[in-house]
Amino acid sequence: MNIVLMGLPGAGKGTQAAHIIDELKIPHISTGDMFRQAVKEETPLGLEAKTYLDQGKLVPDEVTIGIVRERLGKDDCANGFMLDGFPRTVPQAEALDELTKELNRPIDYVIYIDVDEEELLKRLTGRRICRECGATYHVVFAPPKVDGVCDRCNGELYQRDDDKIETVKERLKINMEQIQKLLRYYESTGKLHRVDGKQPIEDVTKEIMSVIRGAKS
Ligand SMILES: [Zn+2]
Repeated sequence: MNIVLMGLPGAGKGTQAAHIIDELKIPHISTGDMFRQAVKEETPLGLEAKTYLDQGKLVPDEVTIGIVRERLGKDDCANGFMLDGFPRTVPQAEALDELTKELNRPIDYVIYIDVDEEELLKRLTGRRICRECGATYHVVFAPPKVDGVCDRCNGELYQRDDDKIETVKERLKINMEQIQKLLRYYESTGKLHRVDGKQPIEDVTKEIMSVIRGAKS
């Protein structure tokens, strides 16, 4: 079962990825892990990627795609894999189609965890952190007993700049533009399945599993 998992920040992709790989017993392949592994193993592509990463630069597509090819060609991917964080762009998606065909490990499902912008903003801007002990809260999903005050140490809660609405909106906008193009691409290949990400976590997992299992039989 070869899967690409997609979702905007705040859609719950990490949580779902953990559940799905546990159910399917396939490796979870995230871009970050893939780079770290290639760098650690000092493969030629890993070393090339490192020169970009060390300078804080974006790793060029041909290097990234080469690393993906090496990773997906490994034995542990023989029974399937879940890609997370790759592809990010349509050219990467096209390259992925090509290389998975060459490896005879074509993508079976592209799962998009669909959550609307309003809900994402609610999730992403609600985090509050204690200045004293670092405990984290969420104004909607895990609120402190007293507004603005840490349950554990009575410290003051604050919002990180990264979590402020303007910053989050900007980050989402960039991501949305990119993901819409990818969704159109995968729609055209017939592999795209949209799953309602606003449901409770367990129900999202169930829906993803029924897509994967249902289409299989
Ligand atoms: Zn505290």
